[in-house]
Amino acid sequence: RAKELGGRRVEVFAAHMHADVVRRLELAADLQRALLAEQFALEYQPVVDLATSRVTAVEALVRWWRGGTFAPPRQFLGAAEDTGLIVPLGEWVLGQACRDVAAWRASSWDIGLSLNLSSRQITAPRFVETVEAALSESGLPPSALTLEVIEEMLVEDAEEIIERLSRLRELGVKLAIDDFGTGYASLALLRRLQVDIIKIDPSFVAGLGRDDALTMLTRTIVGVGHDLGLVVVAEGIECPEQLELLREMGCTRGQGYLVARPMAARGVDTLMPTNLSPLQNTA
Ligand code: C2E
Ligand code: MG
Ligand code: MG
Ligand code: MG
Repeated sequence: RAKELGGRRVEVFAAHMHADVVRRLELAADLQRALLAEQFALEYQPVVDLATSRVTAVEALVRWWRGGTFAPPRQFLGAAEDTGLIVPLGEWVLGQACRDVAAWRASSWDIGLSLNLSSRQITAPRFVETVEAALSESGLPPSALTLEVIEEMLVEDAEEIIERLSRLRELGVKLAIDDFGTGYASLALLRRLQVDIIKIDPSFVAGLGRDDALTMLTRTIVGVGHDLGLVVVAEGIECPEQLELLREMGCTRGQGYLVARPMAARGVDTLMPTNLSPLQNTA
């Protein structure tokens, strides 16, 4: 009897697994088709100088135009990573974003580009060469490109990732730790990789002024970051109180819905200093 029951349970479990596998395979096939049909798009979220509100860079965020709406990355990045499709998708993101930002820079706008990477992209064959080619084909100077990685990518079995990112850094590309404070990267690792930028995770910013521990931690990260000579970017700024506290802490860069939402390339055009009215321009 017990054996019978156990068997049933295995069956139910297997059926559930089966549906899950089918869903993932369908998603993978959809992704493959979408890549061929050019159904991906980029949105750009401005990163601003918190003192002057000047846009210093844009972060490229990939979108999938699917069923009449833009799907956010969390709905498809996992499948893209598992299937390896993140590699061609990431190459498309890299090429498109470099061309867009190079065009904005051609109208004498000193703006940088920040790109998110998955470990699978970095360890793919010819990753360094692919980035070099995107830079030279678009004319974007290496110093205008920041590559964002998360702490997890640098702690375990990360020798190859660190080596490849270091080669790009030697060319002048900047490195950023995204979602900083949520993982296990040590300060020693930040120095070893010669990171240029840390982006404070939104979970810290959300607690500003409401949670003493998070407020204190944010202040500490800003202080230590500056002591190490890093640029500190606060992510997920949604309300004026957070912005005020960050300014008071000496945090110089920020990103978030309060400042600007991710937008299509056309939207970024309107932020170009030459397209702003003289009044806006003095901000
Ligand atoms: P991330 O790099 O940490 O990007 C910031 C995310 O926070 C974006 O979500 C952005 O839309 C959102 N955000 C910005 N300001 C605010 C705010 O004030 N409040 C809140 N609640 N959210 C805000 P998104 O676009 O859904 O991207 C999610 C993640 O997907 C990114 O997190 C990044 O890790 C990944 N990702 C996006 N594009 C790419 C890509 O081209 N390649 C790779 N490998 N990963 C990407
Ligand atoms: Mg990011
Ligand atoms: Mg982040
Ligand atoms: Mg993230």
